[in-house]
Amino acid sequence: MYAVKLYEPGVLKYEEVPVPRIDDDEVLISVKMIGICGSDIPRALYKGAYYKGITLGHEFSGQIVECGAKVQGFEEGNRVTIAPLIPCYDCEYCKEGLFSLCESYNYYGSRTDGAMANFIKVKAGNLLKLPDEVSYEAGAMVDPAANAVHGLWRGNVSEGDTVVVAGLGAIGLFAVQIAKEMGAKHVIAIDIFDEKLAVAKEVGADLTINSKTEDPIAILANQSINCVLDTSGSPIAQNQAVAISGKRGKVVFLGISNEELILSKEAVDRLLRYEISVTGSWNSFSNPFPGKEWAYSIELMAQGKIEVEPLISHRFPIEETPEVFQKIKKKQLVFNKILIQP
Ligand SMILES: [Zn+2]
Ligand SMILES: [Zn+2]
Repeated sequence: MYAVKLYEPGVLKYEEVPVPRIDDDEVLISVKMIGICGSDIPRALYKGAYYKGITLGHEFSGQIVECGAKVQGFEEGNRVTIAPLIPCYDCEYCKEGLFSLCESYNYYGSRTDGAMANFIKVKAGNLLKLPDEVSYEAGAMVDPAANAVHGLWRGNVSEGDTVVVAGLGAIGLFAVQIAKEMGAKHVIAIDIFDEKLAVAKEVGADLTINSKTEDPIAILANQSINCVLDTSGSPIAQNQAVAISGKRGKVVFLGISNEELILSKEAVDRLLRYEISVTGSWNSFSNPFPGKEWAYSIELMAQGKIEVEPLISHRFPIEETPEVFQKIKKKQLVFNKILIQP
């Protein structure tokens, strides 16, 4: 079989490798579709992964072709998606069901071989069946949808709320749709690209704001905002998130940042006076693993309540993957969700 392997930051190779051998608690999956995650980009281009020669890819779907002796509840032929975190199930956080906080986890595509390959072996505990109505393309996008669910739940989004989603990658565009499903009456989407704002509008945003040309703080001054979900990780957006939040509002930071954040004095004043809570959101898991975020996302997709198609900007055959990352590096690609097909 073939796989996309990362050797050094920026050095990806599509090469022939042996088909993995499964353990008793694993299944072998014929990979049908893989999504490039926002986190794959710095990993592949600048930071590198856990070890040299790792196979990338953690957002994926496929079909089971072989089951280990101890695997129950799944069989050959099942169509599945896969939660990428492999918890230890043993640390104090795992025992509480807080798997995102696991102290010694493994992870497909960043700490152990991932899915940019013809086949991958995965633990049976990481599998979720896909109903017939959920395509392999949608199945490869359950991960970002589940991340959006987790973030909205961290923000206590409920019936009648006004929700702002800043940053309209796949997670943000799912968050716009899922907030509505959770009962939000007003969903406002913010980004700096008109193309992404147009998609947000298409999938149900009530109001869109281009924060490059418009000032969200001025536009939203008279709104009482219950939850602001920042998926961008941009310090400007994080500052705005606090500055637009309503009384007792929740601000959820979900976008990876690694940057310093200086809050304006207006934002700090509001944080105090409005008793705003700033909350982190990491990954997508709850008890029992992989959690309600995954089951709910699959259910929404199966019922046609969230759209996947408008989020997909590109599809490439797997052998072009190294080239795709080079195009991303050279900023030759304006993209949203990129799907890779083995
Ligand atoms: Zn991801
Ligand atoms: Zn653990």
